[in-house]
Amino acid sequence: MQSLWNDQEALAFGNDPLGLRVYTSRLLGRNPSLVLHGGGNTSVKTEEKDFFGDPVSLCHVKGSGWDLATIEREGFSPVRMSALLKMAELPTMSDSDMVLQQRAAMTNPNAPAASIEAILHAILPFKFVDHSHADAIAALTCNAEGEARVREVFGNRVIVVPYVMPGFILAKTIHDLIKGRDLRAEGIEGMVLLKHGLFTFADDARKSYELHIEMVTLAEEFLARKSGNAAAPTAAAQEDLLALATLRKAVSTKRGHAQIARLLSKAEQVAYASIGEAGARGPLTPDHSIRTKRAPALIGEDIVASVDQFAQDYAAYFQRNSSGHTMLDAAPRFALWAGKGIVAFGDTVKDANIVADIAEHTAATVQLAEAVGGWQPLPEKDIFEIEYWELEQAKLRKGPAHKVHQGKVALVTGCAAGIGFACAESLAEQGAQVVGLDISPDIAEVMAKIGGIGIVVNLTNDEAVKEALSFTVREFGGIDIVVSNAGIFPKNEYLDVLQQSDWDRTISINLTSHQKLLGQVIPFVRLGIDPSIVFVGSRNFKAPGPGAAAYSCSKAALTQLCRVASLELAPHKVRVNIVHPDAVFDTKLWTQEALERSATRYGMTVEEYKTKNLMKVEIKSKDIGNMVAAMASPLFAKVTGAQIPVDGGNDRVI
Ligand SMILES: [Zn+2]
Repeated sequence: MQSLWNDQEALAFGNDPLGLRVYTSRLLGRNPSLVLHGGGNTSVKTEEKDFFGDPVSLCHVKGSGWDLATIEREGFSPVRMSALLKMAELPTMSDSDMVLQQRAAMTNPNAPAASIEAILHAILPFKFVDHSHADAIAALTCNAEGEARVREVFGNRVIVVPYVMPGFILAKTIHDLIKGRDLRAEGIEGMVLLKHGLFTFADDARKSYELHIEMVTLAEEFLARKSGNAAAPTAAAQEDLLALATLRKAVSTKRGHAQIARLLSKAEQVAYASIGEAGARGPLTPDHSIRTKRAPALIGEDIVASVDQFAQDYAAYFQRNSSGHTMLDAAPRFALWAGKGIVAFGDTVKDANIVADIAEHTAATVQLAEAVGGWQPLPEKDIFEIEYWELEQAKLRKGPAHKVHQGKVALVTGCAAGIGFACAESLAEQGAQVVGLDISPDIAEVMAKIGGIGIVVNLTNDEAVKEALSFTVREFGGIDIVVSNAGIFPKNEYLDVLQQSDWDRTISINLTSHQKLLGQVIPFVRLGIDPSIVFVGSRNFKAPGPGAAAYSCSKAALTQLCRVASLELAPHKVRVNIVHPDAVFDTKLWTQEALERSATRYGMTVEEYKTKNLMKVEIKSKDIGNMVAAMASPLFAKVTGAQIPVDGGNDRVI
């Protein structure tokens, strides 16, 4: 591991202690094998003047909710040293009292809550303190000879701290360990917390950071020597997307709502997934259990039975360790799937990616630890205490409110603009991960605006559709919602002059491409979470107009396709409905000129023409988008085979 220190970069952060603290914190955060997603913490001690001009000693410690990789000055909480040192002297203190008193001791009450390790940072008699959960320290210390190995690698440069719960108890333990000692005179430069992580400290920002890098490098070199650089066995994944969708459904069901599933199937990940029991012994550092639970699910031949087994084991683990807690859901956060890879779950792609990062680092570290004498992480009792720690539970509860389509995967066709885009946008706003298919080369850019993925697909090309569906399931684990919208509106032609090619093309896109999509997507949708298919039809089906034979017939047949699909899919609890919009003019089909021409034909103003329905209201794309999102939601849980007009009321339809 290399030091990333750079004089020029450091200067840009300002040459004051807090500026340098921000800089070297970011350097730690930049390396995922040191800290992952909010893990680790750092501090700097300063002498300042308070608001009244009185001198005050502060410990600026990482604020909760900040990530070292991106931390700013305001990410550090300024806590009075006097209060922190006083707390360290207390014989006991509850965690919630500790959090409260830390807040009361801040010179800026608007700063974020100080890390739960603030007291520990304060009692270390050095200006800069750096703490990480380095993979190499986990591999070194998660085994029976942890302490002996630490001594072998670091000699007497570090204090070795047996595992205790982070927070007040840890601070107190270290307070007792260092009381009355002169750490400088002893040449102490850090602390190794067994089965937890590494602290280094110095009066200089660069020194403290570089000590960290040096010590982690020493641990890495030791492990490499011991393991003989044993290369991870390689294994090729066998892709089975329906099985992946089955796994996602089983996990979502246990979780109580839809989960995004990310499959990690590189050779080393497949190798790890096949490690079996060792991979499920426990996390690298207790912190991770908040996001990943104590252990992953081990998935065997029978996927659903494997997830059930995990849930039973989790309930038993809860029973063994709980004392009046309320059990969390019994769904795994990641799974080791023999022969296939690692699967990470989450309410959003972001959450699932965080779990995936942790799972990947766990994989590499456990394999290494097994190679150098056996992986022996913390006992379950200690993990339980962290998983069910009030402070950690509070952190999770702070997350955003659950949206109606959260965790769902929606496929929308023909969505580079107009009604299709509005459907994709409404679904995305309500939490769905959207994949948009369109023949337009703009689709990727358009979907990116709503956090979706766009794929250029000609829906009449079976292979291209197949590849797009495979991509969707490979990336997100399944498909729950299909909005089959793609369509064209050919030029007006009476039957006696209708070009055969116009008819054929309209039927091919407005009808046949939908039928073909159904054929390919149904196996996945059957495995969806609260699965639903919505077709976008047209008022023209019930109220056709002259000159639109191809369009009206295609939409009439599409409606019939929807009805048959609803009959066929009802036993699988897949709902199939169709929306019939009318006169949606805010799409690119309608220019101001075209509107004026049509209005004139009816002897109306444009305004009258746009609202020529019973309720005299203008229908916008977004009205259709919101309706489609509602039709895919639990509001329509018991509705299938229905035709919903969104047309402001039309006497020919009613
Ligand atoms: Zn820690």
